[in-house]
Amino acid sequence: MEINLISDTITKPSVEMLQYMFNAQVGDDVYKQDPTVIALEARLAGMFGMEAGLFFPSGTMANQTAIKLHTQPGEQLIADKYAHVYHYEGGGVSFNSGVSCCLLDGDRGMITAEQVAGAINDPEFYHSPLTSLVCVENTTNKGGGACYELEELKKIKAVCDANNLKFHLDGARIWNAVVAKKQHPREFGVLFDTISVCLSKGLGAPIGSVLLGDKATIHRALRIRKILGGGMRQVGYLAAAGNFALDNNIAKLIDDHRRAKEIASVLSKLLWIGKIEPVETNILIFSVREGLSENLLIEKLKEKNILISSLGHGKLRIVTHLDYKEVMHTYVLETLQKITL
Ligand SMILES: *Cc1c(COP(=O)(O)O)cnc(C)c1O
Repeated sequence: MEINLISDTITKPSVEMLQYMFNAQVGDDVYKQDPTVIALEARLAGMFGMEAGLFFPSGTMANQTAIKLHTQPGEQLIADKYAHVYHYEGGGVSFNSGVSCCLLDGDRGMITAEQVAGAINDPEFYHSPLTSLVCVENTTNKGGGACYELEELKKIKAVCDANNLKFHLDGARIWNAVVAKKQHPREFGVLFDTISVCLSKGLGAPIGSVLLGDKATIHRALRIRKILGGGMRQVGYLAAAGNFALDNNIAKLIDDHRRAKEIASVLSKLLWIGKIEPVETNILIFSVREGLSENLLIEKLKEKNILISSLGHGKLRIVTHLDYKEVMHTYVLETLQKITL
């Protein structure tokens, strides 16, 4: 048995999810005739109190579409230095939208309203790129699953409004934040022009993200998705997996969070451990003590059939997820305590 803690994207659909997908009603979604996709889009829009949604094959395509919606070539967006849109979307910000990034030195991937206000270029100063968009991530990925305080997001929103900027939420792990902070999705819906939400991370669907916004914006997104090659035909089979995940898997995120915290607690007592970043959700970032080799730890865990990953710069990452069960967890906790470096 292999225990993969590299990412929460490695989950495979359960038999029940596959059965549910098998029974989906489908149609040609490029003609907007797939009832299952339409239902999923409407359901998510309703959950977040937004007007409309659009199904995408990936979170990357949903984010890239949002950036294209809110910017013109030559303009600039503001994001944290760890932002997924900057690091892990293949340079799409410049490739797809011709936009540059002003990166801020945030705390665990989170930026403040004050930092945003200080990073906006004077729109009259035509030598600089025009700032037009702020992107935040909740929870943060490279920042270690950190969750924003709603108050800070409200302040950033006020800065955006005062400066005519659009506000996009990369909500790939918004479900983790909502569960960990006991928030309601509507609290995010009122703050953002667009939100991308992911069904294939903690929720365990094999594929799928939905971009949410007002009707006019999502109507424009339809064309951009088509341009990017994201118009799909009988995709209701995949949207059904998303519906199943929303029905069954949101509440289970609590277990992922508890297990990540329990791993952190065990790690904190080990001699070879360096720094452990605060664990708020399902991501745990840590390092080994100075002078010890993190690659050796990765190797030793691999010999015990436990896979974890390196983020570079001495940082290691563990991500808990739907397919990481209690028996595996017990084994991981025991194994960690036996390992020496
Ligand atoms: C995973 C992820 C995405 C989307 O990734 P895809 O692999 O394209 O679905 C976007 N933002 C964050 C923060 C992520 O972790």
